[in-house]
Amino acid sequence: MDIKYLKGVGEKRAEAFAKIGVTKIEDFLAFVPRAYVRKVSIQQARKMPGENVVVFGKVTFVKHPARPTHPVTIELDDSTDLIEIPIFGASEFRAKQFRLDEHYIFYGKVGEAYKGYNVRLDYRDHIKINPSDENDRDFLKYPILPVYELSGELKATWVKPLTLTRIVFNAFRHLHKDDPAPAGEKLTEKILEGYSLPSRSEAVLRLNFPMEIEQVERYRKRLAFEELFYLQLLLALKRRNLKEETKGISFGTDIRKLTSDFVKALNFELTQAQKKVINEIYSDMKSDKVMNRLLQGDVGSGKTIVSVFGMLIALQSGYQSALMCPTEILAEQHFTTISDFINRFNAAAGKDYKVTLLIGGQKKKLRTEILNDIKSGKTNIIVGTHALIQENVDFANLGFVIIDEQHKFGVMQRAKLKDKGFNPDVMVMTATPIPRTLALAYYGDLDTSVIDELPANRRPVRTYLKKDTARGEVWSFVKDNLRKGRQAFIIYPIIDESEKLDLKSAEINFRNHKENIFKDYNVGMVHGRMLWYEIEDTMKDFKDGKIDVLVSTTVIEVGLDIPNATVMVIEEAQRFGLSQLHQLRGRVGRGAEQSHCILVAKYIDEVSKKRLETLCESTDGFKISEVDMEIRGPGEFFGTRQSGILSFAVTDLIKDSDVLLQARKIAFEIINDDPQLRKKENAVIRNVLLSEHKDSIYLMNIA
Ligand code: ADP
Ligand code: MG
Repeated sequence: MDIKYLKGVGEKRAEAFAKIGVTKIEDFLAFVPRAYVRKVSIQQARKMPGENVVVFGKVTFVKHPARPTHPVTIELDDSTDLIEIPIFGASEFRAKQFRLDEHYIFYGKVGEAYKGYNVRLDYRDHIKINPSDENDRDFLKYPILPVYELSGELKATWVKPLTLTRIVFNAFRHLHKDDPAPAGEKLTEKILEGYSLPSRSEAVLRLNFPMEIEQVERYRKRLAFEELFYLQLLLALKRRNLKEETKGISFGTDIRKLTSDFVKALNFELTQAQKKVINEIYSDMKSDKVMNRLLQGDVGSGKTIVSVFGMLIALQSGYQSALMCPTEILAEQHFTTISDFINRFNAAAGKDYKVTLLIGGQKKKLRTEILNDIKSGKTNIIVGTHALIQENVDFANLGFVIIDEQHKFGVMQRAKLKDKGFNPDVMVMTATPIPRTLALAYYGDLDTSVIDELPANRRPVRTYLKKDTARGEVWSFVKDNLRKGRQAFIIYPIIDESEKLDLKSAEINFRNHKENIFKDYNVGMVHGRMLWYEIEDTMKDFKDGKIDVLVSTTVIEVGLDIPNATVMVIEEAQRFGLSQLHQLRGRVGRGAEQSHCILVAKYIDEVSKKRLETLCESTDGFKISEVDMEIRGPGEFFGTRQSGILSFAVTDLIKDSDVLLQARKIAFEIINDDPQLRKKENAVIRNVLLSEHKDSIYLMNIA
């Protein structure tokens, strides 16, 4: 049935609903209440000041306003008591709207009750009820009513909270009729029985029209289970697809010799955690299963060198390795450190491996040369930016792909690099520790390695929180360090590089630092609107010690390594996410000296203060990421780029981590047992996947 025939909808509203994606009556089943209100007797309402409720009764009096600016006051009687409801605005219309002896439901906030006076309701909405109408009588049976988000489209057609509630109710009633199951079941009998889960129909009905408020959570979790189950099922399929169905490269290598040459070329001792991860990488690369690994490790934990070991394994079997980074500075840095290391390795192992940098903006002649070397196989390790995934880049035989700071790339970009080889092994790296639940939800198809230990020569960065009135003190602290020959970062927030005002204030501050505060020192500046080589030149000067104080926006966020920089001041720290602050802070504390990070915050409220104090107390990126997720929510955690990938209707990853683990276990068991989903008992799942997740399956096959 077209929704325009649904009671309360009609032509105009049907158009509005279509704009928010509701065209069939079944679409209402996907609605999720934003809140619930209890329907109470007026006598009960008296005892509930400050609460939102609905009351149902008969209008016994309509008090007309003395002046047009005064409210119309309705008196409602439900035989337990009387309630007075003043309604402001459009008083002439209102006065005619309510008729004596007619029945209404009113929604609003209960006022303070005074002895001897009627209690009042702070009006929010009402609907008229016809007690002889069967539909309306059914509506009255529910002790709790759902309230939904009202989009602008709906508001434009005068849909108010209770109107929408009643429309949704009418849809449910239309579908349920005498209560048979209309919401198609998406879970198998076995799961429903095995875990005593209610049916989908029951869950959907009770999520919207619960009989007791305590029920809601149980039904919400049931639906969250389903959401997470299908997500995990896709991840299980994807993983299976990659690992079992696709043949990858089995890299054969003399691991003893490789390890001994590798160690000779190192100028430090690997941490236990690095060794453990190297082993994990080796066993993946040795096998002919395609490697798909996420390497998590806090800033400075030494992921790069670990990835280099993997590159060497590929090189020893005659394959190329590629490392893709989100920025040119980072690519340049990796290129330099990897080249240095490979030079030493070549000397130790008697090899002649070649490392190449491929980034945008290189001169045409150089670029052509580089592309030729990549294509001919003359170069073995290719470090670059997005430039790597352009069409004209052909590899001789790409066997190992590494993506640094992978959350800065989209799924497609990662897939493109992978496609430059033939089923190459893939490792993605991130220095933003990801809370466990998020990791399972987003990267549940990947194997995970964690470097959970910093090199022994590191000292945790000391972090302090200062009010911006204490700046003088901060600058003199910075100067103390500069006098000792150290270097400092001063970071200004430019969340979005297009924010002109922010950039301007960073520039003004830069001049002030240069000409006044640090006039005895060399001050430099980098920001995202500079050209990459300008940034790079400045960064290089900083790295070489030609600059003492580097004023910067967040362009220095990722991976930079400058051991002599021991102080970082972060201005307006309250504007950054915790994980981002932790990452920024990771730019100092990279040498053996004690480093310091000073968070300067303006207008600091209790919440931001508490938030920032987490950072002063902890240098554990995983712990910080958990707090960050709890504060900002899973969607914001990764920033905008990835938040859209997972959009849950009912799941709350923070509350539902237990459900996630359960759904994951069951989903993986099913795929393990019946990878093609051919068993009769799994037919339900197969059908849901084919009808609702076609796009994901498509994406899964390319990415
Ligand atoms: P991240 O994990 O943040 O990418 P990097 O790989 O850039 O960290 O390593 C940070 C610095 O630590 C580099 O200068 C690197 O050479 C050094 N490093 C890596 N591993 C060790 C180690 N085991 N001992 C000492 N220094 C190390
Ligand atoms: Mg790094």
